[in-house]
Amino acid sequence: MTKYDLIVVGGGTSGLEAAKTAAQNGLRVALVERKSDPAEVLRSCAQMFLMNMDSFYNERMYFSKEQKRWIFPVSNFSVGYSGPYREFYACHFIAPNAQDRIEIGDYEANASGSGVAAVVFNKGALLGGLYEECTRAGVTCYFERNATFASRGSGGVQIKTAEGDTLEGTFCIAADGINSRLARITGLNKQRRFLFTAGSVSYYVAGVQFDRSEMICMGNAYDHKGGLGAVHFCMLPSVYREDEYWLYIGGDEKLDYFTKKSRFSHWFNNIEVTHKRCAVINGWSPAAEPFKDNIIFAGDSCWFAEAENTGALMSGHRAASAVCEALHKGQPDRAGVMSYISWWKRNWAETHDYRDFLCYAVFFRIFTEDELNYLHRIITQKLFWSLNPFNLYGHIMRGVQPHLDRIRREQPGLAHKLAKFTPAQAVALMKPSTRAGFPAY
Ligand SMILES: Cc1cc2nc3c(=O)[nH]c(=O)nc-3n(C[C@H](O)[C@H](O)[C@H](O)COP(=O)(O)OP(=O)(O)OC[C@H]3O[C@@H](n4cnc5c(N)ncnc54)[C@H](O)[C@@H]3O)c2cc1C
Repeated sequence: MTKYDLIVVGGGTSGLEAAKTAAQNGLRVALVERKSDPAEVLRSCAQMFLMNMDSFYNERMYFSKEQKRWIFPVSNFSVGYSGPYREFYACHFIAPNAQDRIEIGDYEANASGSGVAAVVFNKGALLGGLYEECTRAGVTCYFERNATFASRGSGGVQIKTAEGDTLEGTFCIAADGINSRLARITGLNKQRRFLFTAGSVSYYVAGVQFDRSEMICMGNAYDHKGGLGAVHFCMLPSVYREDEYWLYIGGDEKLDYFTKKSRFSHWFNNIEVTHKRCAVINGWSPAAEPFKDNIIFAGDSCWFAEAENTGALMSGHRAASAVCEALHKGQPDRAGVMSYISWWKRNWAETHDYRDFLCYAVFFRIFTEDELNYLHRIITQKLFWSLNPFNLYGHIMRGVQPHLDRIRREQPGLAHKLAKFTPAQAVALMKPSTRAGFPAY
């Protein structure tokens, strides 16, 4: 049996970046991936590049159009990306009346080039590029393999697949995504709090037309007659076609209502659904540390909800660099990869509180339709341009702040809801039994 320095389980964004980095630094690397083609994107992803304008995991990454690279200046590495991209300029929360908006970012300034645009990218192109680099660096790939067993042996880690392979590695990087089997079977999840399971359906819809459309917009449409109630949506430009948008909405019935009968239906006069993607998200509180028995966890596998592609790249890169360092020092254990463990703790769990993410996710659901229309009407100032989901709730509350006296006078019920809203309430609203839809990022 070949003994590897590193076995990477999962050939998504974090796993490919980890395998590539380790192999480029001379390690013998095996990659285990259940798909046949790592560049094929099957799971829902809005494909926004986070961030171009804010700090995320204490990094300030940006996309360099000139170099065709994603640059991570604090972590001191970059990733080639030669696929297409499409700029967008703001994030708008739209009222149920389909008119009033809470605007995050200055659309006009960003569109005119005097501000900072964000981009959507083609995830298949990103993964395909990373895979090519893995191949060139000599990574041994095991495709169509499902890793189902992991154990700690004297020489490191043993990984077994459902297809009958047994691989041995000094270290393993678990990059098997949000519903990580390795996090479950190694017992890492035992210390984590299970928060919710959410299903996600997203559609690519061509032929969409509306004003100021180069942005991400979110809101609720209300179906009073058909009984669907609040229909939450999130939409943003697609990278595949100019007239196409990515629409995240809770399934076919809601899509039909939203595009044909809701107050937003005039955006969708002549549309075609080109394709559809889904995802299941099991939300857990973050792991206490991203390490167990010589398995290092990267990307979504030990985080709360989504690390995002940028977080996945960063953690994949950092985890692989720590493995190189540990082997170079002759310290193939937890102490050897401490640089990764402490980096992760400091910049992930200690920097971003998952409850802040949940606050933004459920905030607009605690109000009635009328209250939402009122709130969107009175917040007219443009708010700080950010797509960091952990900071969005804070930005929205800073937008509400100057209007509090007026809200107390004009809408005491709404003021009371605002005063009572806490992170604990947000967590409770996401409890597993509610199966509430999850925001798109
Ligand atoms: C609705 C939605 C919208 C999103 N929007 C954005 C966005 O706009 N921008 C952004 O950056 N991110 C977005 N994300 C998040 C982003 O997709 C993830 O954070 C990112 O893909 C995480 O990368 P990863 O490598 O950790 O996991 P994944 O990309 O999930 O990769 C895991 C890989 O492991 C493989 N695997 C799993 N289990 C096994 C096993 N047992 N054996 C072998 N292989 C296995 C899978 O096939 C997969 O290839 C979104 C996610 C969702 C659900």
